[in-house]
Amino acid sequence: MELKDKRALVFGVANSRSLAWSIAQSYSQQGAEVILVCQTQRLLKKVEPLAKTINAKVLVCDVTDDIQLKETFDQVDKIDILAHAIAYAPVDSISSPLSSVSKDDFLKTIEISCFSLIKIVGIAKPFMNKCGCFITLSYLGAQRVMTGYNLMGVAKASLEASVRYLSLELGELGLRINTISAGPVKTLSSSVFPNFNKTLELVKDLTPMKENITGSDVGELASFLSSDRAKLITGSLYYVDSGAHIMGA
Ligand code: NAP
Repeated sequence: MELKDKRALVFGVANSRSLAWSIAQSYSQQGAEVILVCQTQRLLKKVEPLAKTINAKVLVCDVTDDIQLKETFDQVDKIDILAHAIAYAPVDSISSPLSSVSKDDFLKTIEISCFSLIKIVGIAKPFMNKCGCFITLSYLGAQRVMTGYNLMGVAKASLEASVRYLSLELGELGLRINTISAGPVKTLSSSVFPNFNKTLELVKDLTPMKENITGSDVGELASFLSSDRAKLITGSLYYVDSGAHIMGA
């Protein structure tokens, strides 16, 4: 129960496959009180039954809406942990070569997949208890060229750099922030990537562990990084990807 007496706010729950849900479950198993955040009222039908199983409250917030963000934090009081598990790119822009992406699609992707973290950290700072911690999720496509990841790779590279810079200002407040780079897991968002199923197969063939990760692997790592056992770990990128990131040709 390494998160006992902590309160966690988890953004990005759409359904039971969401990595945000795996993180929320792990936080709850480790004794934290969890508040889930989903994007729209429409999702409540899916998210509320999940929330019930871990006694979690559910809030609705579109992270591109400043008013909704403010209202969300008005409802949470103090928190110890904030998990950001949000990404979005218009489907056409993912299958396009990067040089064909429109400015609007580029900006929308960066706004939701990267700037939302920066914005949320700015708003959340006064709500964080001492030794509080932020977590966000990335993918190897931020560091390497992964066929079909395109625009999202650029957004994730920007997200990972943001975590490093945010860690400096958060450190002065006694707060931490880290990135988890997860291997492929079938979710609503990941299914839109054209090579997704092939990537799952490649993990089995080519990684040291030769098996695909699950959401609970991500949840376990998030719980560790959010606990006081990780009290001096910040600005860092941790892989839970069966070792895919160490492989060459
Ligand atoms: P997911 O279940 O579809 O989660 C993505 C979440 O982002 C959804 O809840 C989605 O809500 C939310 N979202 C999108 N736009 C939003 C907005 N404007 N305001 C608030 N929420 C918004 O897929 P996931 O795979 O768990 O993704 C979670 C994170 O893990 C993402 O950052 C993703 O890049 C990362 N990741 C995933 C994998 C993987 O293979 N699955 C691997 C590495 C990293 P809606 O459903 O309503 O749009």
